[in-house]
Amino acid sequence: MHEPIDFDYFNTQLVHNVGSRVGAIAPTITPSAAFGYQDAQEAEGIFSATVNKPLYARVGNPSNAKLEKIVTDFEGGFGAIATSSGMGAISMVCTAFLNAGDEILCIGGFFGGTYSLVNETLARFAIRNSFCTVDDFAHIEATLKRGVKMVMFESVGNPSLTLPDIQRIIDLCNQYETVVMIDNTPTPLLIRPLMMGADIVVHSSTKNMSGHSSALGGVAVFRAVKEEGEKLLNEKYSDLHKIVKKMGKKAFIPICKKRALRDYGMTANAFGSFMTMIGLETLSLRVERVNQSVAKVASILDTELPNGVSVNHPSLASSPDNARYLSDFAQGCGPLLSIDCGTKERAFVFLNALKLVILTANIGDNRSLALHMTSTIYSDFDVDARRFLGVHEGLIRVSIGLEDPKSIAEDFLQAARNL
Ligand SMILES: *Cc1c(COP(=O)(O)O)cnc(C)c1O
Repeated sequence: MHEPIDFDYFNTQLVHNVGSRVGAIAPTITPSAAFGYQDAQEAEGIFSATVNKPLYARVGNPSNAKLEKIVTDFEGGFGAIATSSGMGAISMVCTAFLNAGDEILCIGGFFGGTYSLVNETLARFAIRNSFCTVDDFAHIEATLKRGVKMVMFESVGNPSLTLPDIQRIIDLCNQYETVVMIDNTPTPLLIRPLMMGADIVVHSSTKNMSGHSSALGGVAVFRAVKEEGEKLLNEKYSDLHKIVKKMGKKAFIPICKKRALRDYGMTANAFGSFMTMIGLETLSLRVERVNQSVAKVASILDTELPNGVSVNHPSLASSPDNARYLSDFAQGCGPLLSIDCGTKERAFVFLNALKLVILTANIGDNRSLALHMTSTIYSDFDVDARRFLGVHEGLIRVSIGLEDPKSIAEDFLQAARNL
């Protein structure tokens, strides 16, 4: 449980944090790849992080810094790193914290890219994994006891729409001194995991944060390192102790920069960060609107869709996640709902009859979007993996946009009349 979100507070804060009151109102773009230093002493200071000025754009840039500050504020964090994409943020954190032989625990349904990152790419580098459903606390606790290095989950399963008990998982990770990262892409403002005790939050800013689908981007946000009882000082993180002791409070940032960003270069570019900030100005307005619309569309479809087509959304009494929705996600769980047409053939007929809703592999856009899952994002996945991720043959993922919710629902209803 957490405090209700005051959307007006964020409307005021975001509009004013993105712009400037004096001079150029819009955030400035600094496209320079390199930055000149005053003298040799300043260069030394910048490289040792005692002087806070840009070093080289691969490790940071003033436009990214502005974006990082805004996201840090609304997530209630201590610092952030803007990346080239959401996958860039997730892979930066994973490779900064995990070594060959370590194990990562993944809880719940996952976005396809994250699933293959862990299951295929990190596995190639001998990083082991285990997956479990959101409520398998026996597995979660046993894995934590075994000394797993990192826990990762999504605030809302995409496209399964399973809702985790975020607070309980975070508390267990803190009890067992294990780093926990939450992918908060679908629920910016609605869920604030750092305020609930999490260590790291990641976003694909390509989605809800931007809204306009004009900028690929990601961001990782971190808490401050604690003066007492810091979990990073647990023996299992001994390879990080040097950085933690030297950098204190802000150590999460150099851990990610020196152990991943600097060497892999998944850095955001200045123009992308500018575009993301333009989206952030209206984030609070859009989040409030979209989350009201999703519940409206789900409720219309639930009563009016013909037999053989069903809608799933946690706001519906028929959803297995309804109780958790009402207690923990009272102001919404993001832009997604799903429609199950039963078979791939029926799903194709339904999608091809849509007039308003756009077919694309994206979510969190200002426009409403839809996509058949098994023939696209999950086409490389075997049957067991699809079952675990809650992806059925006839499943269509829908992301609700800013249009009139009645018009969106009507588009789905007219498409269903073709079945
Ligand atoms: C899209 C998405 C990602 C990946 O983000 P990109 O910006 O496309 O790299 C990660 N997690 C979730 C939940 C997503 O929806």
